[in-house]
Amino acid sequence: MTSHHWTTRAIHAGRDDLVDLGLHAPPLDLSTTYPSRDTAAEAARLDVFSAGVDDGGPPIYGRVGNPTVSRFESALAELEGAEAAVAFASGMAALAACLLALVMRGRPHVVAIRPLYGTSDHLLETGLLGTSVTWAEARDAAGAIRGDTGMVIVESPANPTLTEVDIQALSAACAPVPVLVDNTFATPALQRPLDRGAGIVLHSATKYLGGHGDVMGGVIACDELFARSLRQIRFATGGVLHPVAGYQLLRGLSTLPVRMQRASATAAELARRLAAHPAVTRVHYPGLNGAPRPDKQMDGGGAMVSFEVAADPHAVVGAVRLLTPAVSLGSVDSLIQHPVSLTHHVMEPDSREKAGISPRLLRVSTGLEHVDDLWADLAGALARAQALAPSQVPA
Ligand SMILES: *Cc1c(COP(=O)(O)O)cnc(C)c1O
Repeated sequence: MTSHHWTTRAIHAGRDDLVDLGLHAPPLDLSTTYPSRDTAAEAARLDVFSAGVDDGGPPIYGRVGNPTVSRFESALAELEGAEAAVAFASGMAALAACLLALVMRGRPHVVAIRPLYGTSDHLLETGLLGTSVTWAEARDAAGAIRGDTGMVIVESPANPTLTEVDIQALSAACAPVPVLVDNTFATPALQRPLDRGAGIVLHSATKYLGGHGDVMGGVIACDELFARSLRQIRFATGGVLHPVAGYQLLRGLSTLPVRMQRASATAAELARRLAAHPAVTRVHYPGLNGAPRPDKQMDGGGAMVSFEVAADPHAVVGAVRLLTPAVSLGSVDSLIQHPVSLTHHVMEPDSREKAGISPRLLRVSTGLEHVDDLWADLAGALARAQALAPSQVPA
């Protein structure tokens, strides 16, 4: 099976047993509990589960494991090239479980590279879960590692500036401390961090993996040992993925390669057109105008494009008519948002500045519409915003 191309596996992963079951769509199992007449055997299995081991046997209780969610987990693990994957109710629940695992293991210090998703930055900066953080540039990250450092955290491409970090170089420099890569923006369709030496991959599955703006989830791909810690934490803290969400996310994986390919081509074209537009002062897109990138790390530039405007960015968001003015990303429709107001609002202003997030920055998640329609909408919104009163936003 694994000899097939990756794009083929994206369709079939997590479904290889269906023909033998006489099924086409994967079964959606909504049970919260699973009856058994053998309580002694269940007690023994619960001991195994509470140590984080999934014995592959029949389920016991919805918080301990669900067959539909397991299908999504095994498919995602295969597509990221991981031993295991553990799914959660959201991307933040997944990150929280990783941080709790570090605390549980007595290595509560994290080295993190900005920018990160605003709420991830906030969770690390506040130390809400008992971790502490040292912020570092990628090239200095290894030097910030201490005896109690459990993890190095990075996003590449990063939210919202689309800055890339060389995952292979970072992982080699920080070994044996594992590097966690938030792969939400690239997805395994374009970038597989574990192949580059990263130890852990995190997704907000809410975004491209679901792909249609109608499901929340998070997932970690990692080795089986770390997965056990995560399952232990999920078992005890309860941030489980709902089975319907597991079903939707498994379905999302099957169209992920074609969605990413098409949306990325559109984003690259929008980036080129934005860069030539007089009302746009700066465009952030991986490799734009031949800028250097980490070698062989990511296939293309992805489907996100960010840009800074001379006009009032709020007016630009207010003026779009085809793009959806909304936070989040990764849907079939294109979305535009103002990071300082939304995704990165929770951060302290000086943290935002250190992360290079300008108040003039707008972020577009490119969907599957025709590029010319998106461009007409964006260009029209830029023109309308420029015709309004001068910007209130500081330069
Ligand atoms: C949205 C997002 C998250 C958080 O995920 P939720 O599913 O909203 O909890 C984490 N990282 C990145 C890069 C994101 O875009």
